[in-house]
Amino acid sequence: MPQSRPVTRLTRRDLLGLAGMAAAGSGLACLGTVLGYLALDRLVSPQRPTVTPSPPPTRPAVLKQIDRPGILSRQDWGARTLNHEAPNEFGFYSAENPDGWRVYDEDLRIVYRTVVVHHSVLYEDDDLSTMRAIQEQHMDLRGWADIAYHFGVGQSGQVFEGRSLTVRGTHVEGFNTGSVGVVFLGDFSVNHPSSFQFEAGRRLIDWLALRLELTYLAGHSDFNPDTDCPGRYLRELLPILAQSAGLSLGTAGYFAGD
Ligand SMILES: [Zn+2]
Repeated sequence: MPQSRPVTRLTRRDLLGLAGMAAAGSGLACLGTVLGYLALDRLVSPQRPTVTPSPPPTRPAVLKQIDRPGILSRQDWGARTLNHEAPNEFGFYSAENPDGWRVYDEDLRIVYRTVVVHHSVLYEDDDLSTMRAIQEQHMDLRGWADIAYHFGVGQSGQVFEGRSLTVRGTHVEGFNTGSVGVVFLGDFSVNHPSSFQFEAGRRLIDWLALRLELTYLAGHSDFNPDTDCPGRYLRELLPILAQSAGLSLGTAGYFAGD
C-alpha cells in the first residue's frame, strides 16, 4: 500500500515565491492594459490616447534581459554611401572644422547621455521607401553627409539602422554631440503611432538605455521649441517611453562629452 502523502504546509519561503509570481503577473497585466488602451484608442477616438503609465519595474533587473532588437542594416534598406563633400557637414571634424563628420573616439557609454525622439513628417508608400526618402532629403536638400538620425522606427514595427552610432548625428541643432537620434516614421501631429510601431520604439529605446547607459529622454521640441517634432500624439507618449527605459524626461541630461 503506497504511503499517503503528508499534508504540506506552505512555508514563509513558499508564500514569498507566490507573492513574487503574483507581482510579476500584475506587471504583465499592466503592460497589457496600456497596450490595450493604445490599440483601442486608435480605433475609437481621434482624441488623446488614454494612457495611464504604470511605475516602471526596477531598471537593472528588467533591462539586463533585453536582447538587441532586430535592426535592418543600411545595406538591407539600400542606404546611400556617405558624402564627405556635403556642404553642411563637410569633411571631418577637427577643432578648425567643428561641423565636420565626427567619429567618436571615446567609449560610447561616456559619449551618450540622452536619446532624442523625432517624427519624420514625411511618409512614402512604406517604411523602406520612407527611410530612403529621408536620407535623400537630408543629403540632397539639407546638405548633410548622411541621414541625420541613428535609428528609424517604421509603422510596421521594423527598426532601421540610420547613421552609425559611432558618429555624431545632425538631428537636434546645437545639441547633437552625445545625443542618440531616434525617428518614428510618420506625422504624429495628425496621426497616432500604431501599437506595433510604438512597441518597437519602446524596445529599441529600452535597449539603447542599457547599452549606452543613458540617463535622459527628450523630444526634439524640448531642445528646440520652434519645432513641433515629434508631434503631439507621439510627444504625449514620451513619459511612457522614458519610464519603460528607466530614463528621466527632459533636456537636463544633455552632455556634450567635451
Ligand atoms: Zn525632429
